[in-house]
Amino acid sequence: MNTLEKSDNFERMSTNLQTPIDYLKGVGPNRAELLRSELGIHTYQDLINLFPNRYLDRTKYYKIKDLQRNSAEIQIVGKITGFKEVAQKRGKRLVGTFEDDTGRMELVWFRGQKWIRDSIKINTPYVIFGKINWFNGVFSLPHPDLELLNEHEQNLRSSMQAIYPSTEKLSNKGITNRVMTKIMQSLFIETKGRFEETLSENLISELKLLSKSEALFNIHFPKNQELLARSEFRLKFEELFYIQLQLILKNLIHKSKIKGFPFESVGKYFNTFYNDHLPFDLTNAQKRVLKEIRKDLGSNAQMNRLLQGDVGSGKTIVAFMSMIMALDNGFQACLMAPTEILSVQHYQGLHELCNKLNISISLLTGSSTTLERRKIHESLENGNLQILIGTHALLEDKVKFKNLGLAIIDEQHRFGVAQRSKLWKKNTSPPHILVMTATPIPRTLAMSVYGDLDISIIDELPPGRQAIKTVHRYDKNRLKVLRFIRDEIDKGRQVYIVYPLIQESEKLDYKDLMDGYESIVREFPMPTYQISIVHGKMKPADKDYEMQRFVKGETQIMVATTVIEVGVNVPNASVMIIESAERFGLSQLHQLRGRVGRGAEQSYCILMTGHKLSQDSKVRLETMTRTSDGFEIAEVDLRLRGPGDIMGTQQSGILNLKIANIIKDKDILQSARFYAKRILNADPSLALNENKIILYTYRQLSKYKNIWNYIS
Ligand code: ADP
Ligand code: MG
Repeated sequence: MNTLEKSDNFERMSTNLQTPIDYLKGVGPNRAELLRSELGIHTYQDLINLFPNRYLDRTKYYKIKDLQRNSAEIQIVGKITGFKEVAQKRGKRLVGTFEDDTGRMELVWFRGQKWIRDSIKINTPYVIFGKINWFNGVFSLPHPDLELLNEHEQNLRSSMQAIYPSTEKLSNKGITNRVMTKIMQSLFIETKGRFEETLSENLISELKLLSKSEALFNIHFPKNQELLARSEFRLKFEELFYIQLQLILKNLIHKSKIKGFPFESVGKYFNTFYNDHLPFDLTNAQKRVLKEIRKDLGSNAQMNRLLQGDVGSGKTIVAFMSMIMALDNGFQACLMAPTEILSVQHYQGLHELCNKLNISISLLTGSSTTLERRKIHESLENGNLQILIGTHALLEDKVKFKNLGLAIIDEQHRFGVAQRSKLWKKNTSPPHILVMTATPIPRTLAMSVYGDLDISIIDELPPGRQAIKTVHRYDKNRLKVLRFIRDEIDKGRQVYIVYPLIQESEKLDYKDLMDGYESIVREFPMPTYQISIVHGKMKPADKDYEMQRFVKGETQIMVATTVIEVGVNVPNASVMIIESAERFGLSQLHQLRGRVGRGAEQSYCILMTGHKLSQDSKVRLETMTRTSDGFEIAEVDLRLRGPGDIMGTQQSGILNLKIANIIKDKDILQSARFYAKRILNADPSLALNENKIILYTYRQLSKYKNIWNYIS
C-alpha cells in the first residue's frame, strides 16, 4: 500500500483546472458568485464536470400557430416588431411583440429593460429560445434566449444543444442556458480543449473508449449522436470506476491492516450439530453462504460481511452455525438484535439448539436484573459463557468478553455505524463481524454502498413455504374484509392490523390509530375477542407486555403501528391488514408482510386504501400484489425513490454521482467494478507503470473531494 499512502511526488503540466471560476473569460465576480452558490461551481474543473441534463434538437423550429399550452422549451424564428411598457404592482415590465409568418406572441422582460431596448434590432430575424407561458390569452416567453438568425446559423456547430442544470435564481439573474453555453465555450478556448487523460492506456484500448478530451468535448458540444453516446459511456465508466476502486481499496487496506483471528479448525460443535442436530436440510443458498463465511473466518483477515436475505430466508441458522465455528476454535460469540422481543425469540430458539450441544448461552437485555447481569458479566470474563444474545445492552462498557471471536448484528439497518464499531472494541483485536439484514437493497446499489463489506446473499426460501396471498382492497369493501378476519379468527388464527404513523402528521395518525382501534373493538367485542394494541408512544415495558400477550396467543388481534415491523415471529398469525397502505413505502410494506406466512397455514396480506391513488402508490400496490421477491421489490423501490432514500445510502458517495445513474447504468457499474478488481488484484498498490495514470487520478480525486478522503 506504500505508493498509495505517500503524498504526491509528481505534478503534471496543463492548464490548472483548479483555477477559480472568476478568472474565466465571460464570468467575472458576480456570475462567479452565482455559479458558486447555485451550482457549487468553484473551479474550472467543477465547470467542466457540469454535465448537461439533456440535449435539444436545435434544428427544429416551432411556428407560433403550433404552440401548445404545454410545450416545454421551444425555439422559433421571427422578428420583434415593437415594444411597449406595461405598469405593474412594482415597477413595469417590457413587452416585445414577436411575430413569425403564422402569428404573434409576446416576449417579456422584468429586468434589464433599457439594455434590451438599446441592443435589440427591430424587424430583424432572431431565433428565440425558452419556456413559454400562456398568459391573458397569448403565449409569452419571459427573458428569452435571443440570437440573431445569421449568428445562430454560424454558431450552429451541432444540431444538439446541451441544456445545463439551472436554478430559478440563475435564470432570473440572466445566466440563461445560452450564457452557460458561452461560458463553457470560453473554457474550451482557454484550455484549447486539451484535458489530462484520467484512465490508463490499457483500459482505453481494451474498452475502446474515447480519450478524455474527446469525451469532454462531445458531452458539451456533441458532433453527433454516436459520439455523444460514446462520451457518456466513457465518462460514466470513469466515474463508477473510481468509486469502485476506492471501495475495493478500502476493503483491501482493511484486510491487510487488521488482523483477524483465524478459526483454523472445523470442530466438534460444528460437526456434531451438522450431522446430528440440524433440524432441516439447509437450502443451497444457506450452504453457499456458510462456505463464504467459513472461508473468511479461516483466513488471517478480520471478516466484515453483510448477509442479505429476505424475511424468512433462514438467516438465523446461518448465524448460529457461524457462532459455533467460533466456539470450536475456543472463542466466544455474540448476537445483537434491535429489540427485546427479537432477542428473546433468538434466545429461545438458540437455547434449544445449545442444550443439545452442551453450549452455555445467556440473554442480556434492558430488563435483565442486576443479579442476572452480574452473573453474565462474570461468566463472560472468565470464559464460562460461550454465547451471549441481547439488545444494545451488549454494547455497554461493563460487558467484557474473555475472548470474543465473532459478533453478529441482526437487522443491521436498525443500528448505526457507531454501534458496529463499538463491537469492534470488544476484544484486543476486532472480532469477526457479520451483519444481517432483511431489507434487501439491489445488488448494484449494495455494490456501491457497502462495497467495503463483503456481501453474501441468501436468495432462496426454504422449501414448502406457502406464498402469502396479497390483495388490494378499497375502503368501501371493509365489511367483506371484516368478515374475512372473523372467519380466520374462528379458525384459530391471529391477525395484525397496521396503521401508518409518520412523524410529521403524528397527531392525525395517532387519532386514526385510536379511531381504528375503537372500531375494531366494537366489531370484535370482548370477551369473545381479545385485542392488543402497540404503538410508539407506549412505554417499552407496556409494549412488550402487549406484544407478549399476542405472541402467547392470548389476544387474537394486534392493532399496531409499524413498531412491529422488525423480525417478530408469531407463526400462528396468518393475516396482515395494512391500513392506508398507499402511505407506506415499498420496503416497509414488504417488511410488514413478512410478519405473516411463518406457519403452516395459508397467509394473507390485505392492502387497504382509499380511492384516490397517486401513480407511485399504484405502482407500489401493483408490485406488492404481483411479487414477494424482496430483491425485485427493492429494485422497484429504487426506481421510484432514487437511491437517496434507501436505507444506508446517506453516507455514501453514490449520491454525488455527476453523470452515471445507479439504476440505469447497472451494466457500466458492473464492468467498472470488474476492471477495478482486476487491476487491483494484479497490482494492489498501483505501483506499475501502466497504472500510473490511475494512481495519479485517484490521488487527485481523494485530494479534491472530501468524500474520498478516507485514505490518510
Ligand atoms: P430470517 O432470515 O427472516 O431471519 P429465520 O432465520 O427466522 O428467517 O427463519 C425463518 C424460519 O424458517 C424459521 O422458522 C426457521 O427455522 C426456518 N428455516 C430456516 N432455514 C430452513 C431450511 N433450510 N429448511 C426449512 N426451514 C428453515
Ligand atoms: Mg431474522
